Amino acid sequence: MRRPFIAGNWKMHKAPVEADALAESLKRALSEMTAADIAVAPTFLAIPAVVGRLRHSNIGVASQNVAVEAQGAFTGEISAEMLKAAGVQYAIVGHSERRQLFGDTDAVVSKKVQACFRAGLSAILCVGETLPEREAGQVEDVVARQLSAGLADLSADQVSTVTIAYEPVWAIGTGKVATPTQANDVHAYIRSWLGRYPSFVARNVRIQYGGSVKGSNAAGLLSQPEIDGALVGGAALSVEDFTAIVKAAT
Ligand code: PEP
Repeated sequence: MRRPFIAGNWKMHKAPVEADALAESLKRALSEMTAADIAVAPTFLAIPAVVGRLRHSNIGVASQNVAVEAQGAFTGEISAEMLKAAGVQYAIVGHSERRQLFGDTDAVVSKKVQACFRAGLSAILCVGETLPEREAGQVEDVVARQLSAGLADLSADQVSTVTIAYEPVWAIGTGKVATPTQANDVHAYIRSWLGRYPSFVARNVRIQYGGSVKGSNAAGLLSQPEIDGALVGGAALSVEDFTAIVKAAT
């Protein structure tokens, strides 16, 4: 059985003092919920405070992005190695906001996944189609392209440790959630795509759903057989909502 995995993406919210306070509230609220893996992704600036606050808790810390390179003349970038040294465990890679607003192409995403492995961070690889792509019947083509680029050059053992987040772009931050069946269908496709590797890979890879997940809709999504967790944006900033989502997963 795959262990559920709920991650909260705080995006560009919460300065360090506020992030520390939110981490403290979540630490208290979630301390008994040990049947799922839980992580939060603060801004880079708040990572030291949140790592410190969540040390000795059941909540891990993720970054929202990583640089391709380990170090050097790359103004404004932060490497996977630096994040690892700061106590980060996971990195979100290929989020649709990075792909759409910051030029993260499939090739860049692939290099960022490689950077995670180089540094020992667990990658959360985001994939998902836009509304026009869905309407044109291209969901599987788009997801397959993103998977094959994002997982390129990894061994089967490595792929088996990646978390895939299926995040239909039209459902992110819009309040338009995929129905449990719509989401489960794409998750099932992703798992069948993973069938090109030895069978333990498809069995082990956790596939999160992301896109307007809230306390009120989490149970329906998380009860689907192929949905192993959630990547949560807006609702991750609410202790009540995020707690309800973790509860629904366990
Ligand atoms: C996200 O940013 O990964 C996300 C799923 O956002 P939201 O939950 O706000 O749709």
